Amino acid sequence: MTPAGLKAPPQAPAAPPPEAPPGDSLAPATPCSAPPGPAASAAAPHGRGRRCLITRKAVFSASHLYRLPELSDGENQARFGPCSIAPGHGHNYELIVAMGGALDADGMVLNLSEVKHAIRREITEPLDFRFLNGIWPEFDLSRPEGRLPTTEALALAIRDRLTPHLPVMGIRLYEHPKLWADVLSGPHLNPMDAFLTIRSHFAAAHRLARPELSQVENEAIYGKCARPHGHGHNYLLDVTVRGPIDARTGMVCDLAVLQQLVEELVVEPFDHTFLNKDVDHFAACVPTAENIALHIADLLAAPIAATGARLHKVRLQESPNNAAEVFAETAQLEMVPPALEALASA
Ligand SMILES: [Zn+2]
Ligand SMILES: [Zn+2]
Repeated sequence: MTPAGLKAPPQAPAAPPPEAPPGDSLAPATPCSAPPGPAASAAAPHGRGRRCLITRKAVFSASHLYRLPELSDGENQARFGPCSIAPGHGHNYELIVAMGGALDADGMVLNLSEVKHAIRREITEPLDFRFLNGIWPEFDLSRPEGRLPTTEALALAIRDRLTPHLPVMGIRLYEHPKLWADVLSGPHLNPMDAFLTIRSHFAAAHRLARPELSQVENEAIYGKCARPHGHGHNYLLDVTVRGPIDARTGMVCDLAVLQQLVEELVVEPFDHTFLNKDVDHFAACVPTAENIALHIADLLAAPIAATGARLHKVRLQESPNNAAEVFAETAQLEMVPPALEALASA
């Protein structure tokens, strides 16, 4: 990727493309969300006026320390574990910015070169190779309104710093591939709300068959998945919680507690099992990816609520080719914010 090459990509996704090129950071072909307006596509050259979401990635490396000055060493250690060990530790962060707007006469929501420069000027230059504590006033813990630079607090600060310069609809910040935070923009959203996701893994076997049906009938429904002795998967489990960021700890919930809940309630009882036989729930319920995801959501919802956050989503990836997602919040069941969709596919 060369800077000179940044000018070309927007042309391709500007018009309704036959195929979306996922995962190409130079070609932000996020879903064109424009309604199929009556005359829009025919009358507007280069898609002018139609609305689209675009995404842009950036990376930076930075260190941080979870240590509140009002707590003793012991209290900091008890609260934040190894993250409280001075002088701190670092991460390679990956940032995805989702932006929305109407296409201009050139077929672009924004000039990607300007997007890149705004992200560099406002975010990556100030943060790259820096110690995050105190780098911005929001992380100055000597001030009562200062908070720890957690993943979600950093995502929030990045959103608020980019919003004056770009039409930000959402921010995703990966601290590493198994931990990331999303924050969205919008008048109907609590501006302090964040989504925090942790990724876990377990391996398990299953057999898809309804006990009341014959083998022939089950194979007609479930194909090879109904073979009598089962088969296995390496499951990837993403658990997303949502809630307001604590004004002082910068956290949606206690990350260690969340990780412990997923480990104790799901990973430990499910890992290296034959789900149909070893997990009671699946004695009478076919362990499809959908049913496993639903059961995980049912197991986690109440314990997560006790941490102060809400379970937002469970995503269970069974293979590179299939995954099931359960939105656990009633209000979200029929509605996935477009910015979240864009971030998820970026
Ligand atoms: Zn850290
Ligand atoms: Zn299977």
